[in-house]
Amino acid sequence: MFLKLKISFFLFGLLACLILVILAVPYLSQNYSNYRNKLAPLNQTHQTLLSLYIGDEKLLYLPPSAKTHKMRIKEGQTLMQILLKAGADRTNAFNAIKAMRKLFNPRDILKNTEIIIYQKTTVLGESVFDGFEFSPNSSATILVRFKNDSLPIASRINRILKKEEIRVKGYIDTSLYFDATKTGLPAEIVLEFIRLFSWDVDFQREIRRGDEFDILVNRLLLPDGSVARWTSINYASLTLRKKKMPLYRYESVGDGTEYFNRKGRSARKALMKTPINGARLSSRFGKRRHPILGYTKFHRGVDFAAPIGTPIYAAGDGIVIFAGRKGGYGNYIKIRHNSRYYTAYAHLQGFKRNIKRGKKVKQGQVIGFVGSTGRSTGPHLHYEILVNEEQINPLRIKLPSGKNLLGSELKRFQRTRDQIDLTLRNIKTGNISTISK
Ligand SMILES: [Zn+2]
Repeated sequence: MFLKLKISFFLFGLLACLILVILAVPYLSQNYSNYRNKLAPLNQTHQTLLSLYIGDEKLLYLPPSAKTHKMRIKEGQTLMQILLKAGADRTNAFNAIKAMRKLFNPRDILKNTEIIIYQKTTVLGESVFDGFEFSPNSSATILVRFKNDSLPIASRINRILKKEEIRVKGYIDTSLYFDATKTGLPAEIVLEFIRLFSWDVDFQREIRRGDEFDILVNRLLLPDGSVARWTSINYASLTLRKKKMPLYRYESVGDGTEYFNRKGRSARKALMKTPINGARLSSRFGKRRHPILGYTKFHRGVDFAAPIGTPIYAAGDGIVIFAGRKGGYGNYIKIRHNSRYYTAYAHLQGFKRNIKRGKKVKQGQVIGFVGSTGRSTGPHLHYEILVNEEQINPLRIKLPSGKNLLGSELKRFQRTRDQIDLTLRNIKTGNISTISK
């Protein structure tokens, strides 16, 4: 009977071993290959099985405890709340934040910052909080990890960013936006480039297939060569039907950064607030009692009283999109200056010769003459500035300066310009993908 028991024990043991081997082999090999391939850690069930049946030493085959997941700080959310939500226990989360405080104030974490939360797996297969990391900016990472079960260690990893200037040139096939982003330039740089030319170029109408863009831009690189962030456009050029329009970045003494053409004329063009000479402001923008209709009406422009026949100027460079009779406005002209800005002129006696729809005009060019056509009580110019199709107060609007550099300022600009030209002659050009690899 004793022997029988022994044999049955032996058989049972043998069977157990067999089952164990059958169970363990696939798991072990899977673990090993997972480890080698640095794949995500195994799921908990596998780890539990291994630790229970095979023994702790076999856990060496498991990937290091790190299991991470990422969360973003939402508006009004604290780091503590994020850690608790990720399953950290209150004491460890508190201690981890306390350890970080010497390096970084948790209140200074910006919303939308990505927090990487570490979890380690205990022998029993439990997941426990094991620290966190985040990058308050592109050149630093704050890391808090637990050295043993209870001691959090905070460290700051600073990356030294390398400044790089690159040049990207290309032809427009589909659209400037599409073809420029295709080279690898980020959207925000391409949009900035488009903004720089918005006073000179009508992007909906003037761009032709085969036109050329050329851009010199700064960016900061991390030690591994990846881009931390794009900084500034130093030079931007568009060539439309063989006509080249280069713009240079220049920091003027008091006025900050602006872009100028080769001659030192600002890329941003002002609109004239008073496109007429020798006139008197007779009615402002806003609510007023209408002189003819008699009731209160919103006045969507400003009126300048002036003798019949006084010349009216185009307030800025642009294209005439309407010149003709228009209801209460009488003889009316509307000019498109760029994709956002329009100006309109009403009650004209007549139009200057050749001023018609589609005509390109320069700032200060005479387009018509003061009259009293349409719903008008006496000779005056009714003038409107429209932003995105909506009238705004021309006297209040902060318009781009459109300044010209002069004297010593111009000399300084010319030195900057020549330096950029020198860079352009020497720098390698191409697509971003070919430059960085
Ligand atoms: Zn008016």
